[in-house]
Amino acid sequence: MHQDIEQVLYDQKALTEVTKSLGAQLTVDYAGKNPLVVCVLKGAILFMADLVRQIDTHVELDFMDVSSYGGATVSSGEVKIVKDLDTSVENRDVLIVEDIVDTGRTLNYIADLFKYRKAKSVKICTLLDKPETRVVPVHVDYSGFKVPNAFLVGYGLDYAEHYRNLPYIGILKSSVYQTK
Ligand code: 5GP
Ligand code: MG
Ligand code: MG
Repeated sequence: MHQDIEQVLYDQKALTEVTKSLGAQLTVDYAGKNPLVVCVLKGAILFMADLVRQIDTHVELDFMDVSSYGGATVSSGEVKIVKDLDTSVENRDVLIVEDIVDTGRTLNYIADLFKYRKAKSVKICTLLDKPETRVVPVHVDYSGFKVPNAFLVGYGLDYAEHYRNLPYIGILKSSVYQTK
């Protein structure tokens, strides 16, 4: 285990199991459709890569990068588009894939944007959900794990761009980001 990790919450086995189960459900729900699966960069990239390999129906992939966090561990409340989709969502079934829903601001913004752009349907699949810290309402259609209010890293999730490559999800030691 990495020295900056307090505790491992989900190891590779747990992550594989949850992506398989979500993929099986999505295979049924999107059968006969051609959903546009949108990865919210960069945190969701590992989850998205594993998840789509478990979806056994036609899918198209696209990527969107929004920023709300900067280098801090608390949400700034501001959402801005850093990279927009290449694909039009008009009349498409859109599945947004996210790493973690915290305040809900990011997904509330993106889901509303896709509805405004006339998507046929907009659904959300998040690996992790922190329901305690929600500020803005978000309808999460598919969720892997409900997590406590701690700062998590690994499997795509970063602190100041580090730890994304850890093959598990763990709680970051607070000594790493508390400078005093
Ligand atoms: P929201 O807009 O829901 O507050 O924030 C969503 C984004 O905040 C996530 O996509 C993620 O980038 C970041 N975030 C929220 N909680 C955590 C966390 O525990 N660890 C990390 N690394 N990022 C988080
Ligand atoms: Mg994210
Ligand atoms: Mg981040």
